[in-house]
Amino acid sequence: MIEVRIAVSTSGLEITFDKIIRLSQDCKFKNYTHTNEIGCSVLEAVEKGEIDKASYENYLKIERENAHFKSTIAERHKKDKEFGKSLKKYKIDMNRKKY
Ligand SMILES: [Zn+2]
Repeated sequence: MIEVRIAVSTSGLEITFDKIIRLSQDCKFKNYTHTNEIGCSVLEAVEKGEIDKASYENYLKIERENAHFKSTIAERHKKDKEFGKSLKKYKIDMNRKKY
């Protein structure tokens, strides 16, 4: 769902996003937020004007949503397993009704 939204709303910003993502991967604060670390490659690029500030803010927003998204996926995965079990039971019940 998130991927679709990115593609739709930021098609024009894709190149900038690509750059931000590459910079964030090269950044020595790789696992940080790239919002206030001193010496952060992403922040430097924003300051130098290499990255559009609006794109950067968009990136942060998506990153935040992504983090949220990932944690809900893990949760949903657990629920899916349980759901699968009850679905199997349900199917068996359905089959029984047929006969
Ligand atoms: Zn950084």
